[in-house]
Amino acid sequence: MRIAIVGLGLIGGSLALKLSKEGYPVWGISRHRATCQEVLERGALQGCGTDLAQLADFDPQVVVICTPLEQVLVTLAALVPHLSPQTVVSDVGSVKQPIVAPATELWPLFVGGHPMAGKTLQGIQAAEASLFLGRPYVLTPLPQTQPQAVEAMKELVTAVGAEVVLADPERHDQAVAWISHLPVMISAALIAAVGQEEDPDILELARTLASSGFRDTSRVGGGIPQLGLEMARHNQQALLAALRGYQVQLGKIERLIEGERWEELLQVLQRTRQEWQQFRVNQTPS
Ligand code: NAP
Repeated sequence: MRIAIVGLGLIGGSLALKLSKEGYPVWGISRHRATCQEVLERGALQGCGTDLAQLADFDPQVVVICTPLEQVLVTLAALVPHLSPQTVVSDVGSVKQPIVAPATELWPLFVGGHPMAGKTLQGIQAAEASLFLGRPYVLTPLPQTQPQAVEAMKELVTAVGAEVVLADPERHDQAVAWISHLPVMISAALIAAVGQEEDPDILELARTLASSGFRDTSRVGGGIPQLGLEMARHNQQALLAALRGYQVQLGKIERLIEGERWEELLQVLQRTRQEWQQFRVNQTPS
């Protein structure tokens, strides 16, 4: 299977590195010659160019668009004239509903994708072949998507060491609002709340004492601002619903503490400890 990757950043570069390692012929498209050069030197590509038209000669069977979300549809529209009719196209955007239907209009063999893997760093320098190992990788075909397009993407997902999860775009967006987009906003609010401390000595001491608990709860809020903005802008309704649900729970906890209802608070914490164990991330080594 010949694969082309458009946008050689963290996700695109990591796909290219792993797919090449697995023996697939991979072509890259980057806006910058220097990026092409770097990825070629890392041995992750058979060829690389700065112009989508260059893909016509390589004639990829699968193209994965790995640009920021806002650029996916524009890139697909520009790509269409250079594709063979049987080429499968996918993306890696963290929100699926605004992308999948219009992309399928532009290209019927489009299959939405979202690898549930990331880092707090961006760009090709952060790319690594092992990024997707053992991670869920969501594919969001529509009822009319041709099965062979989904099969091609399943092969790619398996080749990068990830686990295929099928979901429709709307349910995907609702689920990631809870477990990916809400945590980013809560975590950002946590960092901002600590920053409100008015006594500079206490703030400095807090920064010094912050250890694993703070690191785990603040990590995603200290991530790439553009990715957080992308989630909020394009998954606005699902994220707002999740934020409201979160505030209800936080309010309940606040009232229990205020009212010194320690037994009930203990029950809440016992329940959340049990529920926490049901998340996949706590069942498999990461
Ligand atoms: P990234 O490291 O910044 O890579 C994005 C790449 O897209 C850039 O390196 C650039 O590649 C290209 N690009 C940037 N601006 C562009 C523009 N205006 N027009 C065309 N191409 C442009 O970001 P990333 O983390 O890989 O994220 C890319 C996609 O992955 C996003 O849609 C995001 O939703 C999704 N995603 C991210 C994560 C994560 O945690 N990072 C996880 C899952 C999914 P060239 O310089 O080579 O042109």
